[in-house]
Amino acid sequence: MKIYPPEPFRIKMVEPIHLINKQEREKAILDAGYNLFGLRAEDVFIDMLTDSGTGSMSQAQWAGIMMGDESYAGARSYYHLAEVMSDIFGFEFFVPTHQGRAAESIITNLLIKPGDKIPSNMHFDTTDGNIRARLGQPVNLVNDQAFDTQAILPFKGNMDTNKLRQFIKETGVENIPFGTITITNNAGGGQPVSLQNIREVSQIYRENGIPFFIDACRFAENAFFIKQREPGYEEKPIIEIVREIFKLADGAWMSAKKDALVNIGGFLAVRDEALFQKISNELILREGFVSYGGLAGRDLEAIAIGLREGLEEDYLAYRLGQTAYLAETLQESGMPILEPAGGHAVYLDAGSLLPHIPQAEFPGQALAVALYQYGGIRGVEIGSVMFAYPHPETNQMIYPKLELVRLAIPRRVYTQSHLDYIGETAKEIVSIKENLRGFKFTYAPKLLRQFTARFEPV
Ligand SMILES: *Cc1c(COP(=O)(O)O)cnc(C)c1O
Repeated sequence: MKIYPPEPFRIKMVEPIHLINKQEREKAILDAGYNLFGLRAEDVFIDMLTDSGTGSMSQAQWAGIMMGDESYAGARSYYHLAEVMSDIFGFEFFVPTHQGRAAESIITNLLIKPGDKIPSNMHFDTTDGNIRARLGQPVNLVNDQAFDTQAILPFKGNMDTNKLRQFIKETGVENIPFGTITITNNAGGGQPVSLQNIREVSQIYRENGIPFFIDACRFAENAFFIKQREPGYEEKPIIEIVREIFKLADGAWMSAKKDALVNIGGFLAVRDEALFQKISNELILREGFVSYGGLAGRDLEAIAIGLREGLEEDYLAYRLGQTAYLAETLQESGMPILEPAGGHAVYLDAGSLLPHIPQAEFPGQALAVALYQYGGIRGVEIGSVMFAYPHPETNQMIYPKLELVRLAIPRRVYTQSHLDYIGETAKEIVSIKENLRGFKFTYAPKLLRQFTARFEPV
C-alpha cells in the first residue's frame, strides 16, 4: 500500500474551497486568456501554482502574531528571531527583509561590478534577474544528470566541482565577487544537494578566497533529504545537519515564504562585520530599520516560530512523503513526470505526454489548461511559454530542452484526498490526450511574458 507519514497536525480552522462546474471553468479560463495567472483564485479548486507564501501557519504562529512587538527599533520580536537565527544558522549578523529577492537585491548591489560572474548550481529566476540587473552574469554549474528527467539519483542538485574549478581558472577570482549554491535546487526540480558536495564547493571557494553564500529557501527539506539519503547522516538530528551546512558558508539569504512556514518575509545573514554595516545602510535606504527590515513585528515573531517548526522531523517526513506520494499517484495514472520527486513540487513532462503538439504550440500550456478544465487544478507551465526566445541575429526561435508543468505543494494545506483527486484528474487527461490541442499567443510582452500573456487554442 502506498502511504506517507500522516499529517502531524489536526485541522481546527478551515478555508472553504469550491469546484465550480465544467462550464464555469471553461468560461473562467477563456476570460483569463487561457493564462492560469489570470484566473481568480476563487475559481481554482486545488491551487498548486506555487509553494511560496501559500502555507498554513500553526496555532503557535498565530498566537505569536498577537504577541508581535511593533516597536520601530529593538522590538522583542526582533530579538526572538535573532536568537532563533543564531541557534539554527550560526551567522554573526543578519537583517530581516520583506522577501528573499530583497536580500538578493542588497547583496548583488553591494558586491557585483559590471562584467562579474556569479557561479551556482542553478540560480533561481529572481537571483538570476538581480545579478543581471547589476550587469553581472549568473553561471549555472549543476551536474549534467540534473537534465536527465529519468535519472533516479539521490542528489541531482549537486554542483559539478570540476566545472567549478575550471570556471574559476578561466574567469579569474578578481571577477568572482562571491559564489553561491541553492538548496534545494528550485530551478532544477527541487532536487537536493549533498553535504559532501556543499563541503567540496565551500572548500573550492575558500581556497580561492571567494565568499560563499547559500540560497537557503528550502534548507530544511534539503537537510531531511541528506538524513534520508547520505551515508553517515541517518542518525543525525536535523538541526545538527543544518548547523553543519551553514558552518561551511560565509553568509546566506532566504525567502521565509518557503521553509520558515510564513506568508511573507526573508533575511540576509553574514559573518563579516564590515559587510554587515554596508548591508544595514542599504537596508535602511530600501527596506526599513535593521530590526524589522520591511516587515511588521508580528511577521518576525511568526518567522521565529516557523523556522523551528520547519525543522521538526515528523513535519519533514510528512512534507517530503506527500510530494513523493503525489509523484507516485501521477505515475500510476499514466502521467510522465520528472524523476525522482523533488522536495516541494512534482513536474509533469508535457513534452512526452503530448508529442503531437509542437513546441511552438506550447504543450506545457496545453496540459496546464487541461488540468484546470478537467479538475479545477492550477499548476504552472515551465516550458516554451516561459523560456523560448528568438535568436538575437537569425530571429529563429530557440526552445528549452523540457516542456514541463509544475505542481508545487503548499505546506500543511492539502490532504491525501486532494492529492488522489489530482491523480484521478490526471488519469482522465491521459485517456483523452490525443484530443488536446496547442495554443498560440494573442498577446505577449517581451519580458516575463508567462505572467500576462493571452492565448487562444490553435
Ligand atoms: C522563492 C525563491 C527566491 C526568492 O524569494 P522571494 O521571497 O519570492 O522574493 C530565491 N531563491 C529561491 C531558490 C527561491 O525558491
